[in-house]
Amino acid sequence: MGLSMLGAFRRGGRTGRARPVSAAPDTLRLISGVGHKGPACFVVETAGRRLMLDLGEGPPPGVLPDVEGLGPLDALVLSHGHKDHVGGLSLLAKLGNPPVYATEIVARGLPKGLSVRPLPIGGTGEVLGIEVTTGRNGHAPGGIWLHFAIGAGFLYTGDWSTESILYAYDPPTKTAAIALIDCSYADYDRPIGECWSALEPFAERGPLLLPVPANGRGPEIALQFLRYGRTDVYVDDAMNRVLRQLCTTDMASVRADIDDDLKALAVTVKPIDGARGIMLAASADGASGASKPLLERWEHASEPAIVFTGYRAPDTPADRLIKSGRAQFLRWNVHPRLADAVALAQSIKAKTVIPAFCDRSRLDVLAQAFAPARVTMDGPVNL
Ligand SMILES: [Zn+2]
Repeated sequence: MGLSMLGAFRRGGRTGRARPVSAAPDTLRLISGVGHKGPACFVVETAGRRLMLDLGEGPPPGVLPDVEGLGPLDALVLSHGHKDHVGGLSLLAKLGNPPVYATEIVARGLPKGLSVRPLPIGGTGEVLGIEVTTGRNGHAPGGIWLHFAIGAGFLYTGDWSTESILYAYDPPTKTAAIALIDCSYADYDRPIGECWSALEPFAERGPLLLPVPANGRGPEIALQFLRYGRTDVYVDDAMNRVLRQLCTTDMASVRADIDDDLKALAVTVKPIDGARGIMLAASADGASGASKPLLERWEHASEPAIVFTGYRAPDTPADRLIKSGRAQFLRWNVHPRLADAVALAQSIKAKTVIPAFCDRSRLDVLAQAFAPARVTMDGPVNL
Protein backbone atom coordinates (compact mmCIF):
# COMPACT_ATOMS: atom_id res chain seq x y z
CA MET A 1 0.00 0.00 0.00
CA GLY A 2 1.47 3.34 -1.02
CA LEU A 3 1.47 6.53 0.97
CA SER A 4 -1.42 7.98 -1.02
CA MET A 5 -3.57 5.06 -0.05
CA LEU A 6 -2.58 5.43 3.59
CA GLY A 7 -3.72 9.04 3.26
CA ALA A 8 -7.07 7.80 1.99
CA PHE A 9 -7.37 5.59 5.06
CA ARG A 10 -6.70 8.44 7.41
CA ARG A 11 -9.06 10.85 5.76
CA GLY A 12 -11.78 8.22 5.75
CA GLY A 13 -11.08 7.33 9.36
CA ARG A 14 -12.33 10.70 10.58
CA THR A 15 -15.74 10.44 9.06
CA GLY A 16 -16.46 6.76 9.19
CA ARG A 17 -15.31 3.70 7.34
CA ALA A 18 -12.09 4.09 5.46
CA ARG A 19 -11.91 2.05 2.34
CA PRO A 20 -9.78 2.44 -0.73
CA VAL A 21 -11.85 3.13 -3.83
CA SER A 22 -12.92 -0.01 -5.69
CA ALA A 23 -11.26 -2.38 -3.18
CA ALA A 24 -12.86 -5.30 -1.37
CA PRO A 25 -14.14 -4.51 2.14
CA ASP A 26 -11.63 -4.67 4.97
CA THR A 27 -12.34 -7.87 6.88
CA LEU A 28 -11.20 -9.90 9.84
CA ARG A 29 -11.24 -13.66 9.46
CA LEU A 30 -11.31 -15.81 12.59
CA ILE A 31 -9.14 -18.77 11.58
CA SER A 32 -8.67 -20.16 15.09
CA GLY A 33 -9.03 -19.08 18.72
CA VAL A 34 -12.63 -17.86 18.78
CA GLY A 35 -15.37 -20.14 20.11
CA HIS A 36 -12.88 -22.36 21.92
CA LYS A 37 -9.54 -22.26 23.77
CA GLY A 38 -7.39 -22.96 20.74
CA PRO A 39 -4.31 -21.64 18.98
CA ALA A 40 -4.52 -17.95 18.08
CA CYS A 41 -4.74 -17.26 14.35
CA PHE A 42 -6.60 -14.44 12.61
CA VAL A 43 -6.30 -12.80 9.20
CA VAL A 44 -6.92 -9.13 8.40
CA GLU A 45 -7.60 -8.34 4.76
CA THR A 46 -7.20 -4.68 3.84
CA ALA A 47 -6.44 -2.85 0.63
CA GLY A 48 -5.46 -6.03 -1.13
CA ARG A 49 -3.04 -7.02 1.61
CA ARG A 50 -3.43 -9.90 4.05
CA LEU A 51 -1.92 -9.81 7.53
CA MET A 52 -2.04 -12.78 9.84
CA LEU A 53 -2.26 -12.04 13.56
CA ASP A 54 -0.50 -14.75 15.58
CA LEU A 55 0.06 -18.34 14.52
CA GLY A 56 -0.13 -20.57 17.56
CA GLU A 57 -0.15 -24.20 18.59
CA GLY A 58 -2.25 -25.77 21.34
CA PRO A 59 -2.74 -25.50 24.28
CA PRO A 60 -2.89 -29.29 23.68
CA PRO A 61 0.38 -30.18 21.90
CA GLY A 62 0.02 -30.65 18.14
CA VAL A 63 -3.20 -28.64 17.73
CA LEU A 64 -2.57 -26.20 14.86
CA PRO A 65 -4.82 -23.73 13.02
CA ASP A 66 -6.25 -24.91 9.72
CA VAL A 67 -4.49 -22.71 7.17
CA GLU A 68 -5.27 -24.88 4.15
CA GLY A 69 -6.42 -22.78 1.23
CA LEU A 70 -5.27 -19.47 2.72
CA GLY A 71 -2.38 -19.22 0.25
CA PRO A 72 0.43 -16.67 0.45
CA LEU A 73 0.17 -13.91 3.08
CA ASP A 74 1.86 -10.52 3.13
CA ALA A 75 2.83 -10.46 6.82
CA LEU A 76 2.58 -12.32 10.11
CA VAL A 77 2.21 -10.07 13.15
CA LEU A 78 2.96 -11.54 16.58
CA SER A 79 1.44 -10.31 19.86
CA HIS A 80 3.76 -12.26 22.22
CA GLY A 81 5.93 -15.33 22.41
CA HIS A 82 3.69 -17.93 24.08
CA LYS A 83 3.26 -21.21 22.26
CA ASP A 84 -0.46 -20.78 21.63
CA HIS A 85 0.42 -17.58 19.72
CA VAL A 86 3.70 -18.46 17.96
CA GLY A 87 3.90 -22.26 18.08
CA GLY A 88 2.55 -22.69 14.55
CA LEU A 89 5.51 -21.13 12.74
CA SER A 90 6.11 -24.49 11.05
CA LEU A 91 3.11 -23.55 8.88
CA LEU A 92 4.81 -20.44 7.48
CA ALA A 93 6.07 -22.24 4.39
CA LYS A 94 2.44 -23.01 3.45
CA LEU A 95 1.74 -19.29 3.75
CA GLY A 96 4.51 -18.15 1.42
CA ASN A 97 7.05 -17.39 4.19
CA PRO A 98 5.87 -13.82 4.78
CA PRO A 99 7.90 -11.37 6.90
CA VAL A 100 7.28 -11.75 10.65
CA TYR A 101 6.64 -8.59 12.70
CA ALA A 102 7.50 -8.82 16.39
CA THR A 103 8.94 -6.77 19.21
CA GLU A 104 12.66 -7.11 19.75
CA ILE A 105 12.13 -9.17 22.92
CA VAL A 106 9.74 -11.60 21.24
CA ALA A 107 11.93 -11.78 18.11
CA ARG A 108 14.86 -12.94 20.23
CA GLY A 109 12.98 -16.12 21.11
CA LEU A 110 11.91 -16.98 17.56
CA PRO A 111 13.58 -19.64 15.41
CA LYS A 112 16.54 -18.40 13.38
CA GLY A 113 16.18 -17.81 9.67
CA LEU A 114 12.89 -15.90 9.71
CA SER A 115 12.57 -12.55 7.99
CA VAL A 116 11.81 -10.54 11.15
CA ARG A 117 10.75 -6.88 11.15
CA PRO A 118 10.44 -4.75 14.26
CA LEU A 119 7.33 -3.71 16.15
CA PRO A 120 7.53 -1.12 18.92
CA ILE A 121 6.83 -2.33 22.46
CA GLY A 122 4.89 0.89 22.90
CA GLY A 123 4.12 3.63 20.40
CA THR A 124 3.35 3.83 16.73
CA GLY A 125 4.88 1.92 13.85
CA GLU A 126 3.69 0.45 10.59
CA VAL A 127 3.07 -2.89 9.01
CA LEU A 128 2.93 -2.86 5.20
CA GLY A 129 2.23 0.87 5.37
CA ILE A 130 -0.69 0.47 7.80
CA GLU A 131 -0.32 2.51 10.96
CA VAL A 132 -0.07 0.27 14.04
CA THR A 133 -0.07 1.48 17.64
CA THR A 134 1.11 -0.88 20.36
CA GLY A 135 1.38 -1.02 24.14
CA ARG A 136 2.61 -3.50 26.72
CA ASN A 137 0.11 -6.25 27.49
CA GLY A 138 0.89 -6.95 31.18
CA HIS A 139 1.20 -10.64 30.36
CA ALA A 140 4.59 -11.73 28.99
CA PRO A 141 8.07 -10.45 28.14
CA GLY A 142 7.88 -8.38 24.94
CA GLY A 143 4.11 -8.90 24.73
CA ILE A 144 1.93 -6.20 23.18
CA TRP A 145 -1.60 -5.36 22.14
CA LEU A 146 -2.02 -3.90 18.64
CA HIS A 147 -4.29 -1.14 17.34
CA PHE A 148 -4.57 -0.88 13.56
CA ALA A 149 -5.66 2.29 11.77
CA ILE A 150 -8.08 0.35 9.61
CA GLY A 151 -11.70 1.45 9.20
CA ALA A 152 -12.86 3.13 12.42
CA GLY A 153 -10.05 1.39 14.33
CA PHE A 154 -9.35 -2.26 15.09
CA LEU A 155 -7.83 -3.50 18.35
CA TYR A 156 -6.33 -6.94 18.84
CA THR A 157 -5.36 -7.45 22.49
CA GLY A 158 -3.51 -10.76 22.16
CA ASP A 159 -3.34 -12.05 25.74
CA TRP A 160 -3.42 -9.30 28.34
CA SER A 161 -3.87 -8.54 32.00
CA THR A 162 -4.32 -5.39 34.04
CA GLU A 163 -3.33 -7.08 37.30
CA SER A 164 0.23 -8.31 36.92
CA ILE A 165 2.60 -7.40 39.73
CA LEU A 166 5.51 -7.97 37.33
CA TYR A 167 4.61 -7.14 33.74
CA ALA A 168 3.73 -3.57 32.77
CA TYR A 169 0.38 -2.85 31.14
CA ASP A 170 -0.36 0.20 29.00
CA PRO A 171 -4.10 0.73 28.48
CA PRO A 172 -5.04 1.24 24.82
CA THR A 173 -6.24 4.80 24.26
CA LYS A 174 -7.20 4.96 20.58
CA THR A 175 -10.82 4.27 19.73
CA ALA A 176 -11.56 1.03 17.91
CA ALA A 177 -14.95 0.16 16.46
CA ILE A 178 -13.94 -3.49 16.29
CA ALA A 179 -12.18 -5.17 19.20
CA LEU A 180 -10.85 -8.72 19.24
CA ILE A 181 -10.38 -9.19 22.97
CA ASP A 182 -8.75 -11.99 24.97
CA CYS A 183 -11.57 -13.34 27.15
CA SER A 184 -9.80 -16.57 28.17
CA TYR A 185 -11.58 -16.49 31.54
CA ALA A 186 -14.99 -15.65 30.03
CA ASP A 187 -17.14 -14.30 32.90
CA TYR A 188 -14.66 -15.11 35.71
CA ASP A 189 -14.25 -11.96 37.75
CA ARG A 190 -12.07 -12.56 40.83
CA PRO A 191 -9.10 -10.28 41.54
CA ILE A 192 -5.54 -11.59 41.68
CA GLY A 193 -5.50 -10.85 45.43
CA GLU A 194 -7.89 -13.77 45.87
CA CYS A 195 -5.52 -15.98 43.89
CA TRP A 196 -2.78 -15.15 46.37
CA SER A 197 -5.11 -15.71 49.34
CA ALA A 198 -5.64 -19.27 48.08
CA LEU A 199 -1.93 -19.83 47.54
CA GLU A 200 -0.71 -18.12 50.69
CA PRO A 201 -1.28 -21.11 53.04
CA PHE A 202 1.38 -22.94 51.01
CA ALA A 203 3.83 -20.16 51.82
CA GLU A 204 3.56 -21.16 55.48
CA ARG A 205 4.19 -24.83 54.81
CA GLY A 206 6.94 -26.74 53.27
CA PRO A 207 7.86 -27.96 50.08
CA LEU A 208 5.76 -26.86 47.14
CA LEU A 209 6.18 -27.47 43.41
CA LEU A 210 4.56 -25.03 40.98
CA PRO A 211 4.75 -26.10 37.32
CA VAL A 212 4.65 -22.74 35.48
CA PRO A 213 5.45 -21.10 32.16
CA ALA A 214 8.93 -19.62 32.56
CA ASN A 215 8.11 -16.58 30.43
CA GLY A 216 4.73 -15.85 31.96
CA ARG A 217 3.32 -16.21 35.46
CA GLY A 218 6.33 -18.17 36.77
CA PRO A 219 8.56 -15.20 37.66
CA GLU A 220 5.52 -13.32 38.94
CA ILE A 221 4.50 -16.03 41.40
CA ALA A 222 8.13 -16.41 42.52
CA LEU A 223 8.23 -12.67 43.18
CA GLN A 224 5.11 -12.88 45.32
CA PHE A 225 6.59 -15.68 47.46
CA LEU A 226 9.77 -13.63 47.93
CA ARG A 227 7.72 -10.62 48.99
CA TYR A 228 5.94 -12.84 51.49
CA GLY A 229 9.31 -13.59 53.01
CA ARG A 230 10.27 -16.91 51.48
CA THR A 231 13.91 -16.77 50.47
CA ASP A 232 14.12 -20.51 49.79
CA VAL A 233 12.88 -20.20 46.19
CA TYR A 234 14.21 -22.80 43.74
CA VAL A 235 13.83 -22.60 39.97
CA ASP A 236 14.71 -24.59 36.86
CA ASP A 237 17.14 -23.36 34.19
CA ALA A 238 14.37 -21.90 32.03
CA MET A 239 13.00 -19.76 34.87
CA ASN A 240 16.49 -18.71 35.89
CA ARG A 241 17.23 -17.57 32.34
CA VAL A 242 13.98 -15.59 32.10
CA LEU A 243 14.59 -13.92 35.46
CA ARG A 244 18.00 -12.74 34.34
CA GLN A 245 16.59 -11.46 31.05
CA LEU A 246 13.81 -9.57 32.87
CA CYS A 247 16.51 -7.76 34.86
CA THR A 248 18.50 -6.85 31.74
CA THR A 249 17.44 -7.24 28.10
CA ASP A 250 13.70 -7.57 28.78
CA MET A 251 13.38 -4.80 31.34
CA ALA A 252 11.12 -2.79 29.03
CA SER A 253 8.30 -5.23 29.86
CA VAL A 254 8.69 -4.92 33.62
CA ARG A 255 6.74 -2.56 35.88
CA ALA A 256 8.88 0.34 37.05
CA ASP A 257 7.89 -0.15 40.70
CA ILE A 258 9.28 -3.68 41.12
CA ASP A 259 12.79 -3.24 39.83
CA ASP A 260 14.53 -3.80 43.19
CA ASP A 261 12.38 -6.79 44.17
CA LEU A 262 13.03 -8.45 40.82
CA LYS A 263 16.78 -8.02 41.13
CA ALA A 264 16.60 -9.42 44.67
CA LEU A 265 14.70 -12.42 43.33
CA ALA A 266 17.23 -13.03 40.55
CA VAL A 267 20.09 -13.28 43.07
CA THR A 268 18.05 -15.25 45.65
CA VAL A 269 16.85 -18.18 43.53
CA LYS A 270 18.78 -21.43 43.53
CA PRO A 271 18.60 -24.51 41.27
CA ILE A 272 16.03 -27.13 42.26
CA ASP A 273 17.74 -29.84 44.28
CA GLY A 274 15.33 -32.22 45.98
CA ALA A 275 11.90 -31.57 47.47
CA ARG A 276 12.38 -28.40 49.45
CA GLY A 277 11.30 -24.80 49.56
CA ILE A 278 9.16 -23.14 46.93
CA MET A 279 10.03 -24.72 43.58
CA LEU A 280 8.99 -23.33 40.21
CA ALA A 281 9.67 -25.20 36.97
CA ALA A 282 8.48 -25.11 33.38
CA SER A 283 6.39 -26.35 31.67
CA ALA A 284 3.02 -25.34 33.11
CA ASP A 285 1.25 -28.59 32.23
CA GLY A 286 4.14 -30.90 33.11
CA ALA A 287 4.24 -32.33 29.58
CA SER A 288 7.75 -31.08 28.90
CA GLY A 289 10.66 -29.18 30.44
CA ALA A 290 12.04 -29.64 33.95
CA SER A 291 8.61 -30.08 35.55
CA LYS A 292 8.00 -33.32 33.61
CA PRO A 293 10.65 -35.48 35.35
CA LEU A 294 9.94 -33.79 38.70
CA LEU A 295 6.26 -34.72 38.46
CA GLU A 296 7.15 -38.27 37.46
CA ARG A 297 9.44 -38.48 40.48
CA TRP A 298 6.95 -37.09 42.97
CA GLU A 299 3.61 -38.25 41.59
CA HIS A 300 3.38 -41.09 44.13
CA ALA A 301 5.23 -39.37 46.98
CA SER A 302 3.54 -37.46 49.78
CA GLU A 303 5.73 -34.40 49.30
CA PRO A 304 6.07 -31.82 47.87
CA ALA A 305 2.63 -30.29 47.52
CA ILE A 306 1.92 -29.66 43.83
CA VAL A 307 -0.17 -26.75 42.57
CA PHE A 308 -1.05 -25.99 38.96
CA THR A 309 -2.08 -22.41 38.29
CA GLY A 310 -3.00 -22.16 34.59
CA TYR A 311 -5.08 -23.62 31.79
CA ARG A 312 -5.38 -27.36 32.15
CA ALA A 313 -5.27 -29.12 28.79
CA PRO A 314 -6.76 -32.61 28.65
CA ASP A 315 -4.43 -35.62 28.70
CA THR A 316 -1.51 -33.75 30.25
CA PRO A 317 0.27 -34.55 33.54
CA ALA A 318 -1.53 -31.51 35.01
CA ASP A 319 -4.89 -32.98 34.12
CA ARG A 320 -3.94 -36.43 35.42
CA LEU A 321 -2.52 -35.28 38.76
CA ILE A 322 -5.43 -32.95 39.49
CA LYS A 323 -7.93 -35.70 38.67
CA SER A 324 -6.11 -38.18 40.93
CA GLY A 325 -6.08 -35.67 43.79
CA ARG A 326 -2.26 -35.59 43.98
CA ALA A 327 -2.18 -31.97 42.79
CA GLN A 328 -4.40 -28.96 43.23
CA PHE A 329 -5.52 -26.31 40.79
CA LEU A 330 -5.45 -22.70 42.01
CA ARG A 331 -5.72 -20.12 39.26
CA TRP A 332 -3.25 -17.26 39.03
CA ASN A 333 -4.74 -14.52 36.88
CA VAL A 334 -2.77 -13.80 33.72
CA HIS A 335 -5.77 -12.90 31.56
CA PRO A 336 -8.39 -10.17 32.09
CA ARG A 337 -11.29 -10.49 34.45
CA LEU A 338 -14.64 -9.85 32.80
CA ALA A 339 -14.82 -6.38 34.38
CA ASP A 340 -11.42 -5.51 32.86
CA ALA A 341 -12.52 -6.64 29.40
CA VAL A 342 -15.79 -4.70 29.63
CA ALA A 343 -14.00 -1.55 30.85
CA LEU A 344 -11.55 -1.82 27.95
CA ALA A 345 -14.33 -2.21 25.36
CA GLN A 346 -16.09 0.84 26.78
CA SER A 347 -12.96 2.98 26.93
CA ILE A 348 -12.10 2.40 23.27
CA LYS A 349 -15.77 2.80 22.27
CA ALA A 350 -15.94 -0.64 20.66
CA LYS A 351 -19.11 -1.20 18.65
CA THR A 352 -18.36 -4.86 17.97
CA VAL A 353 -16.55 -7.14 20.41
CA ILE A 354 -15.19 -10.52 19.39
CA PRO A 355 -14.32 -12.45 22.59
CA ALA A 356 -11.35 -14.74 21.97
CA PHE A 357 -9.98 -17.90 23.59
CA CYS A 358 -13.13 -18.91 25.47
CA ASP A 359 -15.90 -21.38 24.76
CA ARG A 360 -18.84 -20.52 22.54
CA SER A 361 -21.17 -21.57 25.37
CA ARG A 362 -20.20 -18.28 27.12
CA LEU A 363 -21.47 -16.13 24.25
CA ASP A 364 -24.79 -15.16 25.88
CA VAL A 365 -23.30 -14.08 29.18
CA LEU A 366 -20.59 -12.11 27.39
CA ALA A 367 -23.15 -10.47 25.08
CA GLN A 368 -24.99 -9.21 28.17
CA ALA A 369 -21.80 -7.94 29.78
CA PHE A 370 -20.55 -6.04 26.71
CA ALA A 371 -23.96 -4.56 25.73
CA PRO A 372 -24.71 -2.25 24.02
CA ALA A 373 -21.71 -3.36 21.93
CA ARG A 374 -22.53 -6.18 19.53
CA VAL A 375 -20.82 -9.43 20.52
CA THR A 376 -20.05 -12.09 17.96
CA MET A 377 -17.94 -15.20 17.64
CA ASP A 378 -18.66 -15.59 13.93
CA GLY A 379 -16.48 -14.28 11.14
CA PRO A 380 -15.68 -12.79 8.82
CA VAL A 381 -16.22 -9.41 10.48
CA ASN A 382 -16.16 -6.20 8.44
CA LEU A 383 -13.59 -3.71 9.70
ZN1 LIG B 1 -0.01 -15.77 26.52
